[in-house]
Amino acid sequence: MHTDQDPGPPPLDHRELNTDLSLFATDASVGSGLPLWLPAGAVIRSELEAFARDIAHRDGCLPVYSPVLAKRALFERSGHWEKFAQDMFPSMALGGEEYVLRPANCPHHAAIYAAKRHSYRDLPIRLHEMGAMFRAERSGVLSGLSRVRQINLDDTHVFCRPDQIATEVARALRSALEAHATLGLPVDHVRLSRRDASSGYLGSAGQWAQAEEALRVAAIEILAGSALPLVEAEGEAAFYGPKLDLQVRDGRGHQESIATVQLDFNQPERFDLCFTSAEGGRERVVMIHRGTVGAMDRVVATLLERYQGRLPLWLAPVQACVLPVGPEQGAAARSLAEDLASARLRVRLDEAGSLGARVRACRARRDFLIAIVGAREAERGEVQVTDVAAGYSGTVAQRSLAPLLAEAHARRKRRVAWPAASPATS
Ligand SMILES: [Zn+2]
Repeated sequence: MHTDQDPGPPPLDHRELNTDLSLFATDASVGSGLPLWLPAGAVIRSELEAFARDIAHRDGCLPVYSPVLAKRALFERSGHWEKFAQDMFPSMALGGEEYVLRPANCPHHAAIYAAKRHSYRDLPIRLHEMGAMFRAERSGVLSGLSRVRQINLDDTHVFCRPDQIATEVARALRSALEAHATLGLPVDHVRLSRRDASSGYLGSAGQWAQAEEALRVAAIEILAGSALPLVEAEGEAAFYGPKLDLQVRDGRGHQESIATVQLDFNQPERFDLCFTSAEGGRERVVMIHRGTVGAMDRVVATLLERYQGRLPLWLAPVQACVLPVGPEQGAAARSLAEDLASARLRVRLDEAGSLGARVRACRARRDFLIAIVGAREAERGEVQVTDVAAGYSGTVAQRSLAPLLAEAHARRKRRVAWPAASPATS
């Protein structure tokens, strides 16, 4: 018997959803864990990249680009080679040098900071990149977009004075919480990931205690007005420093972290990163690693599972699918589709085949809006719309559709402001 407690069918995995949505593909000759982003998947990723860049820009981050590989010596200096070599791709020999694919973007950003002298007045400097990094995962653990060998990360490194740590950590945490709210990923708790007693960490116990306390103080302040708990976890830190992770629970109850803020006294020492103080001396800079929207691969997998493929308007590969009931409405449907496309919306026009089959195809692809133009609508300049996620069906004026959708897209809103009084039609 179907009751309110009936959990219904189990949630689909993002790889199962991909069968209907055609977002990514794998190819044996390309290799496992190296997904190819098909056009519909690339739409979602590019929207997320634009979102990440908007947040970075608002927070005063400066865009940079850096190469995906470097001499092995760079990662020996950063400590990655010592702590992380088993997760890195084997090195490549070239002209008597050894090069490796980077396991993290931080050393390149440290080198960008070091390319120039900085005064205390220049700080903080925040460098942002949508950067690719690599993990030599064993083929047995690879899975769709959630475990991959190339990770495309929304990555920022803040270089600041010690007296700027609290403000910068707070700014990063606030932006990460806002990003989760826009994405519709509910944060379960914020985790302060600390070191444990093992030897797998760089830096002194004093540095660690200081960094953990700085993160704790900033997190308590930001979380004071919210219901979110701060949970401390030993042994979850990065090897170079403690971090704050925003923990999200997926459809199966598993925890994962998308956004992170990490405090690092270590890399600045290893790379001898300094600034000139007011007194003219050289002082050590502090490095904060911040990831807001997270890894593109992982966040797309998480969003697909969270929404079961039916993404909010701003992320949907097809935002409106326009269907004329018959050939007589073709001209009206084409004109509506052109209208939507000029408002920079992603529109699809399907004219061939039975209406029932075309509607089923829209639903299977999880198009955001199904817009049907029949004889009556064509005559009145109207369109029948179905917003499946919102459970809304109604008739709206053709000329009002583009502004309604464009507004929701521009503001990355989860709901379109449909006219309430519109009579529902089937
Ligand atoms: Zn980093």
